[in-house]
Amino acid sequence: MGNIGEIGNYIPSSFIDWDSRVSAVIFLTGCNFRCPFCHNGLLVNEQVPALNDIKVLEHIKSRRSFLDGVVISGGEPTLDIKRLEKILFQLKEVGLPVKLDTNGSNPLALEMLISKGLIDAVAMDIKGPWEKYDMLCGRIVDKESIKRSIDLLISSEIEVEFRTTFVPALMDYDDLSKIERFLGGKAPWIVQCFKSENAMDEALRNTKGPSREILREKFPGAIIR
Ligand code: SF4
Repeated sequence: MGNIGEIGNYIPSSFIDWDSRVSAVIFLTGCNFRCPFCHNGLLVNEQVPALNDIKVLEHIKSRRSFLDGVVISGGEPTLDIKRLEKILFQLKEVGLPVKLDTNGSNPLALEMLISKGLIDAVAMDIKGPWEKYDMLCGRIVDKESIKRSIDLLISSEIEVEFRTTFVPALMDYDDLSKIERFLGGKAPWIVQCFKSENAMDEALRNTKGPSREILREKFPGAIIR
């Protein structure tokens, strides 16, 4: 089974992980959060066999002309920053732009990766309003680090989006309004509709997802997915 930061899954072509780009997606194992609604439990708990880094990177290289970019997702990719940096340096040599998916818990890593020019875009989760953050992450979370990551990304020059998974069993529309007010339209905000099938918390597996129509009506400034 994989260790933190190993490649636990790889999608050669995705049309949904980076807007209007065809991207390869690398999923790194391990996460410091345990969000009850997470659908990547096996990766988070390092219960998948590690893929060979060299083979994955060679495959991406061989398909370079078909791809618009590479997404590094997880898990939380910044947990093993040395390993992440190594992969990013190799992708830099391939010459494809990179988007990083993160839960925002490691602002120092984000600062370093941006300053070294190793990432071109970031999609960061905002799990919920601050008073529900620990519950939604399944852990006690350093909210100041999350806020530092948000500020850093908003003031950076790179492409940024923030994402919130709306889980009706754990949140309400008021929670989404608080996030919307906090962001104040400073960056694109995506509200993802919770899908219950593979939720980490079994108690959520039979709960209902939200209505896209109602979300579109109530939050016209958000991108509803
Ligand atoms: S949703 Fe993201 S941050 Fe939460 S446990 Fe899953 S991979 Fe980690």
